[in-house]
Amino acid sequence: MQITIIYDNTAYSSDLIPDWGFAALVEAHDRRVLFDTGGDGAILLNNMKKLEIDPSSVDEVFISHPHFDHVGGLSAFLHENHEVSVYVPDSLRGIKHAREIRHLSEPAQIHDNFFSTGQLDQIEQALAVQTEKGLVLVVGCSHPPMEDILNTASRFGNIFGIVGGLHGFNKFELFGDLQLICPTHCTQHITEIQNRYPDKMEQGGAGRVIKI
Ligand SMILES: [Zn+2]
Ligand SMILES: [Zn+2]
Repeated sequence: MQITIIYDNTAYSSDLIPDWGFAALVEAHDRRVLFDTGGDGAILLNNMKKLEIDPSSVDEVFISHPHFDHVGGLSAFLHENHEVSVYVPDSLRGIKHAREIRHLSEPAQIHDNFFSTGQLDQIEQALAVQTEKGLVLVVGCSHPPMEDILNTASRFGNIFGIVGGLHGFNKFELFGDLQLICPTHCTQHITEIQNRYPDKMEQGGAGRVIKI
């Protein structure tokens, strides 16, 4: 499995544009999933081009939640590639020009080895991908309580790691069993997480590639 951060508040690669928001390419089991789309379509497509990610090579789009910094780039992306299925939390309506829109409310397997927590706290879903090491969770902002995200995902297997925005998450003990933590985007307590789990930390930022 490989996760390439395309869009983030900070840039890991100096030739990418940092901007408030999140998007990542999740590659696993011969599938290429665009997780969220950042806030600005031009920045999303610019960063994808710099990373040599052809929009037409993306199989599917998974949207965590309807906030602008996660869906803002979607219409620009669909302009480049509308032959995709788009997985959205149930509350997100009004997407046009995609081949198929799948609304998710309950926890569900969406493919072999790919799972959604379903819409939690009436706002957000997380993506869980099964790997040889365990489940890897990709999260947008983690607005629902982290206990709920972890508990819901764990019905699909043991959680190995988490990548994405953790917002105000501060119950650090909940990550005690995880082996990989990449807190980025809106995460407010990166320093505390780093201090508590230095051996598990992966740096974020646009351009960062995490191989699992
Ligand atoms: Zn948000
Ligand atoms: Zn956000």
